[in-house]
Amino acid sequence: MPQTNRAPSEELRPAADELAAEFERTFGRMPEAAWSAPGRVNLIGEYTDLNESFVLPIAIPRTTRAIVAARSDRALVMRSTQGYGEGPDLVTVQLGEADLPRGWAAYPAAVALALEVNGYPVPGAELLIDSDVPVGAGLSSSAALECAVAAALCSLAGARVAPMDLAVLARRAENDFVGVPCGIMDQAASMCCQDAHALMLDTRSHEVEQVPFDLAAAGLGLMVVDTRVKHELGASAYSRRWQACQLAARTLGVRALRDVGPSEVESSLRALAGVWDGEVLKRARHVFTEQARVLHVVEVLRSGDPAAMGPDLLAGHASLRDDFEVSCAELDAVVDAACAAGAIGARMTGAGFGGSAIVLAEEARLGAIGSVVRAAFDDRGFAPPHCFPVTASAGAHRMF
Ligand code: ADP
Ligand code: MG
Repeated sequence: MPQTNRAPSEELRPAADELAAEFERTFGRMPEAAWSAPGRVNLIGEYTDLNESFVLPIAIPRTTRAIVAARSDRALVMRSTQGYGEGPDLVTVQLGEADLPRGWAAYPAAVALALEVNGYPVPGAELLIDSDVPVGAGLSSSAALECAVAAALCSLAGARVAPMDLAVLARRAENDFVGVPCGIMDQAASMCCQDAHALMLDTRSHEVEQVPFDLAAAGLGLMVVDTRVKHELGASAYSRRWQACQLAARTLGVRALRDVGPSEVESSLRALAGVWDGEVLKRARHVFTEQARVLHVVEVLRSGDPAAMGPDLLAGHASLRDDFEVSCAELDAVVDAACAAGAIGARMTGAGFGGSAIVLAEEARLGAIGSVVRAAFDDRGFAPPHCFPVTASAGAHRMF
């Protein structure tokens, strides 16, 4: 038996008819439609979206489901089976009102608002949310929620919206109405990923390429380690990094750091060193090297050799730790312990300062690596992490 915590599987998750039954218990009638949208992990390309560059996420087999039925009035009546403690059990908002509810219900309300503002009028609806995406673990439960709701409301409205367009709307909901400044990666991954593929996404043009990512065929596996800590990042740490990237781009005379090609990296770093202190230089160096790592990983995956991405994962982690300075003791402990236990590669994933790391290893070793990571946490006095294997999974889809 592998010693990683159990992975949620389709069989363990409530089936479509159980979700329909829960909807009926909540709202006293049968639903009309249900959509499922996954969380994600980013394989490589961290903070590159701040610089309009490439990212390479996969969808994970943990999803948020939105089950809906239209109403004849303009009310959106919502319940989440995971939303307790963030407001009342049932939350009602009037569509068309700009005031969003507090707590989790702000997300679905913001999605409805973004759809309306962008010309997709949605009907009043009853909405049940159910999910097994861990919240606040850097696996993007917020995008999974937004995408499931956006797709479910569109199907009630009879609106056919392309997946990437819906991702853009879901991101607007989070940016403009909830007020969280995220990039397009999370929503694009949740909407557009495919089974056994990673999504190469150009965050400037929104062009995508499905890159084969079938680890099982290579005898490999990927494990998520949720450190279950979230150190206060503070909006200021994020915006300081954003400003450093902007300063560097302006100094180099480019729109964004992604516009610095591989052959210009050395001279650009020299130019920056002449003007700015180490901080700007280090931030830019992370972006340049990370951009190269994304391109290299895509190349090795295209050639069917996923084990060859191991060194890129490790170098990516070192760069986030030392140059971008967004790691923390728990994330470093995962990477160090996983490597000591024979992992092929490991890195923090997501925004950092806590959240999750990924570990790539021979499939048969993942369980033992999980045990070593847990022991390392215990030794350091950290609370036990949550380890679970993931496979590259399908993006948002209709359940009924
Ligand atoms: P994450 O890294 O998981 O996206 P965020 O802070 O961006 O973390 O989003 C988490 C928030 O999204 C939660 O605090 C909650 O408001 C909302 N949310 C996500 N999933 C659910 C759910 N299943 N039910 C209710 N709210 C949810
Ligand atoms: Mg989020």
